[in-house]
Amino acid sequence: MAGPTAPEARGTDFRPPRIGVRRLNQDPPLSRRLTRPSEVRRLIRELDLRPSRGRGQNFLIDANILRCVIDSAGLEDGDGVLEIGPGLGALTAGLLERGGRVTAIEKDGRLADHLRRLMPDRRALHVRTEDALETDFGELFRASVCRVAANLPYSVGTRILVRIVDAEPRPETVAVMLQLETARRIAAAPGSSDYGPLAVRTTAFFESALVKTVSATCFYPRPEVRSAVLRLVRRDTPAIRSDAYPRLVEILRSAFSQRRKKLSNTLPDLDLRAVGIDPELRPHRVPPGDWYRLAERALHA
Ligand code: SAM
Repeated sequence: MAGPTAPEARGTDFRPPRIGVRRLNQDPPLSRRLTRPSEVRRLIRELDLRPSRGRGQNFLIDANILRCVIDSAGLEDGDGVLEIGPGLGALTAGLLERGGRVTAIEKDGRLADHLRRLMPDRRALHVRTEDALETDFGELFRASVCRVAANLPYSVGTRILVRIVDAEPRPETVAVMLQLETARRIAAAPGSSDYGPLAVRTTAFFESALVKTVSATCFYPRPEVRSAVLRLVRRDTPAIRSDAYPRLVEILRSAFSQRRKKLSNTLPDLDLRAVGIDPELRPHRVPPGDWYRLAERALHA
């Protein structure tokens, strides 16, 4: 019996194999295959990657959680979506499969190159090798990007989220995986121990919801912390005047830097009673609306 036929001899439709290139609409879809632990391990070997803790390189290996992030983003066909830290590309593929036009920002050059090779449709995907802490998000949101979907690197997740909340203009929806502790602080209600500047600042522009807590077993390698999917939906009208927002940030910093102290001690120069705040309160008891009124009034004081 003859040995294996040389590919060139098989017929005219032969195309040379392109290593690492996959088709999006295969069955199962690429996003699902990229969440398989065996595939993640294979790609890590192929790329000679040592997943870095400092860069929060914990790759999602659970297709249901991936779908939860995409659903939470409320993506519609043709929407421009920003992904931060695409890594091996599972979420990127999922967003493309839903018809998103994806701008992906990845700091690790090997992963960014891998993504450019992996995804066949260049028109719907723009990969930028860049530190998301330096990205001008406002510029992206002013252009055509209206949503954010990401599995954020833990080490810088809070800083990236704050930069998105502070961006001008802001995206319509944000669906992110991040450390559970951070998600709780953002979605916290007044009076709880998690409530603080993060919740007050975010609530000024977004309604937030902690959608799902996520176990460390959903990632490879496993992180040491638990995670959560957080959803933010932009308010039609911000709850604070935009010119008072910088003042709000300063006031919150002063009040919460000593959260056990009464406001009469930490904010002695502000007329708290004028906006109905009891100076005997500690800062975590003050609801967001009172902080916004205080900041707006302090502008004119
Ligand atoms: N999206 C992939 C997934 O869900 O499996 C990977 C998520 S992994 C938690 C975080 C990704 O963010 C990694 O690919 C890492 O290289 C990247 N990253 C870390 N710091 C970054 C930064 N400052 N800017 C952009 N990307 C960063």
